[in-house]
Amino acid sequence: MAEAGTLHNAFIDELRDMYDAEKQLTKELPKLAKASSNPKLRQAFESHLQETQGQIARLEKVFASLDEKVRGKHCDGITGIIEEGKSIMEEDFNDATMDACLIAAGQRAEHYEMAAYGTLVAWAQAMGHTEPAKLLRQTLDEEKAADKKLSRLAEGGINQGAADAAQSDDEDAEPATVGASKKTPTSKAKSGNRR
Ligand code: FE
Ligand code: ZN
Ligand code: FE
Repeated sequence: MAEAGTLHNAFIDELRDMYDAEKQLTKELPKLAKASSNPKLRQAFESHLQETQGQIARLEKVFASLDEKVRGKHCDGITGIIEEGKSIMEEDFNDATMDACLIAAGQRAEHYEMAAYGTLVAWAQAMGHTEPAKLLRQTLDEEKAADKKLSRLAEGGINQGAADAAQSDDEDAEPATVGASKKTPTSKAKSGNRR
């Protein structure tokens, strides 16, 4: 066992934090999937749930290879991000806007994880923990890929769909006052809509 105060000690602590974070996310991802209207977005959350279960198993291997007990330590950071996601899901958004907001919430979680695993990989390497470094790198790569997939969905039509929905709301609400400057982007957006 490491002495208190060493980098190894901090490393084990951060591993426990992420073990807890991943477990929290296995409860959140099904909710994000259920709240999604776009089938590809729903699928992205569902497939990341499966990856997350694999990441938990991978952390268990990391603990084993370090001769440490498998243990979580409450992760306040991901709890906060999940709470923000919950408030989004309580909002009365149209479907397209909700999808755009679910992506925003999901990407906050992915970036938190990317930061944590990036540190863990670097620390494992610095301390010569070769096998943990390799396992943690695999998870880091999965988190980055999940984040990129969400960006592709957002930029590949979901954001534009939400922007178009906002504009048709505007036109319904105040048809006389909107004017030409708002009508022009609408027609451009419609022809460019990839969905
Ligand atoms: Fe994860
Ligand atoms: Zn944390
Ligand atoms: Fe993740």
